[in-house]
Amino acid sequence: TYGSFTDKATYDWSSEEEEPDGRARPIQVLVVKDDHTFELDEAALSRILLADEVQNREVVAISVAGAFRKGKSFLMDFMLRYMYSQASESWLGEEDEPLTGFSWRGGSERETTGIQIWSEVFLVDKPDGRKVAVLLMDTQGTFDSQSTLRDSATVFALSTMISSMQVQRTLHHLSPSLFTEYGRLAMEETFLKPFQSMIFLVRDWSFPYEFGYGQEGGMKFLEKRLKISENQHEELQNVRKHIHSCFTNISCFLLPHPGLKVATNPNFDGRLKEIDREFINNLKILVPWLLSPKNLDVKEINGSNITCRGLLEYFKAYIKIYQG
Ligand code: GDP
Ligand code: MG
Repeated sequence: TYGSFTDKATYDWSSEEEEPDGRARPIQVLVVKDDHTFELDEAALSRILLADEVQNREVVAISVAGAFRKGKSFLMDFMLRYMYSQASESWLGEEDEPLTGFSWRGGSERETTGIQIWSEVFLVDKPDGRKVAVLLMDTQGTFDSQSTLRDSATVFALSTMISSMQVQRTLHHLSPSLFTEYGRLAMEETFLKPFQSMIFLVRDWSFPYEFGYGQEGGMKFLEKRLKISENQHEELQNVRKHIHSCFTNISCFLLPHPGLKVATNPNFDGRLKEIDREFINNLKILVPWLLSPKNLDVKEINGSNITCRGLLEYFKAYIKIYQG
């Protein structure tokens, strides 16, 4: 069973962060500023990772990464539902229940390149008897210019280094220029062992007769995309080779289109009854596949399991590297 932790009293929100109702929420811990410098909110990150109940627990760090308006919050809100419902059968919720979580602030979401983490760290009992701490992160990039592309690559690389599993919202992050940068950053740090899991989540998949929805179709699709062929541009070949050498596990999941209400209705608030059945059916497979207790992998660095406290230290160290 899951025991979710929140001892709000230990959080000691600063006035800027104060939440009168003490509800868990996304906290912006890393921001890339207009002058391309990184700013880490160490105090906020420490409050979350050094809370008594979690600081010495091994950490499972899950990041969802992608561009703005790609449905990251939407997906993460469902992940939160799964975590809060303690993996119960009915985790998906009621037909008429608006979605809350990463998107609960509605219109006030800023277009910020950086990392947000959910203020509540979940404690989960794995089938092998270990109790692990699960951290959810939202990694967001902007891709409107060469300079923001580089910022985004750095943020993605950082978030990959601190997460045990990264879900990429789109395959276009395989774009050569991004991955060249990404690879350069990762490879420069020779002490780093390969990354853990990378899951490409393809949205609005519209060729289910070619590759079926879900993981199996996704893997076939990915193999085709990653296949290195003779006549490929050299740069692209390198990207593909590189990605295989970086990650222990690479997988892919094809998600159908969620329906027009989700995609276009500005008043859509996440109710299941307004989402296409096919999408929901796949969500029912995807989310437990990502988050069921047996599938949660503890973050490893150089072969050692990392605790929340350790993750904080790595976070700080990595930021220093990229601050130059
Ligand atoms: P974020 O900026 O990446 O966090 O994106 P949001 O989760 O806020 O979603 C942006 C918009 O895309 C919203 O209007 C969602 O309803 C919609 N959306 C979410 N998931 C999908 C999807 O899989 N396909 C499509 N077409 N739209 C989606
Ligand atoms: Mg969002």
